[in-house]
Amino acid sequence: MAIYLDNAATTQVDPDVLEAMLPLLQGQFGNPSAIHAMGRKARAAIERARKTIAKSINVSPSEICFTSCGTEANNTALLGSVRDLDVTRIISSPTEHHCILHFLEHLEASYGVEIVYLDVDDKGRVDVDQLAELIADKTKKTLLSLMHANNEIGTMIDFERISKMCHEAEVLFHSDTVQTFAHFPFDLQETPISFMVSSAHKFHGPKGIGFMYVNGDNQISPLIYGGSQERNMRAGTENISGIIGLGKAVELAYGALDEHRKHIEDLRQYCKEKLVEHIPGILFNGDLEGRSLYTVLSTSFPAEACYEMLLFNLDIAGICASGGSACSSGVNQGSHVLKAIDADATRTTIRFSFSKNNTKEDIDHLVGALQQIREEAVV
Ligand code: PLP
Repeated sequence: MAIYLDNAATTQVDPDVLEAMLPLLQGQFGNPSAIHAMGRKARAAIERARKTIAKSINVSPSEICFTSCGTEANNTALLGSVRDLDVTRIISSPTEHHCILHFLEHLEASYGVEIVYLDVDDKGRVDVDQLAELIADKTKKTLLSLMHANNEIGTMIDFERISKMCHEAEVLFHSDTVQTFAHFPFDLQETPISFMVSSAHKFHGPKGIGFMYVNGDNQISPLIYGGSQERNMRAGTENISGIIGLGKAVELAYGALDEHRKHIEDLRQYCKEKLVEHIPGILFNGDLEGRSLYTVLSTSFPAEACYEMLLFNLDIAGICASGGSACSSGVNQGSHVLKAIDADATRTTIRFSFSKNNTKEDIDHLVGALQQIREEAVV
């Protein structure tokens, strides 16, 4: 059996989520837009899921719009801010996910939007003083787009502080919360935001379903045109089994948030200690002692021959993790995040990411495999 330590990429669907989804894929297959009984039943199920999600972040159900994934939700929010809310300047950071960065390039090229990237330090933290200076300039309608937690190195923003700064400066605030929704509590009445997004497969829900929260003051037009689904914000017959699975995954995550968090935090700490004990010269990327996503441990292995093919060798040993390098030559473009934090390109970066399903035995197995990889290289 593989040891799965790549939960920031995607997670295993929870059996209870699957159980909630199956009836929608079997007998209850009505189209939610149909007016007959089967259609109405499907519609009611969607609205129940929408309510569960809205309640989890303390907003109105009418502010939740289902999308096919986090990428679509992010694209829709950014495009809407430019097309419908007159945004002409977007402030962001070079460490955002590509679904933000590539879309910002598109907005710059096709809509003439000014894009400003904040400086980041060697831990991936954005320069908040620079942000304060930028938003003091009111000549252009501005949106700030900053991810809550970085998916590669786990560095987090001070969400409350930045929400407050944007609110006071009358700047729209969009946050890619794909790695943090269902892992942290949110109360959007306390911490206002214009847009946030989520993707079910990052917290034991199915792939192909996500949502966008759009603050009720901000009416935006769709990315996908057609029918009037999702209050005219996203056309197309709803992915009803996905929506029900998403709702169930949210219920399960927020029903045991502290318990899961403690379990995963302990595992990450255990992993870190074991790696320090057994792997000479190992370092960690990100802001581990500060604001850090507890599901992610970005490790930096010394520039030794035994670590050159590390991801490949871990795979052979039955361990699933993710790579990332700062190198920029040839086919391997390298990680834009590692480049932005000026990571040493001669070292090997591996991201281990954990979920409620991982155990200490998984970590022991990982450490054993790493030791073996090293020993075999020495022979
Ligand atoms: N944003 C972040 C921070 C992510 O980690 C991911 C997925 O890796 C996405 C956006 C894209 O989400 P999706 O896979 O649902 O399109």
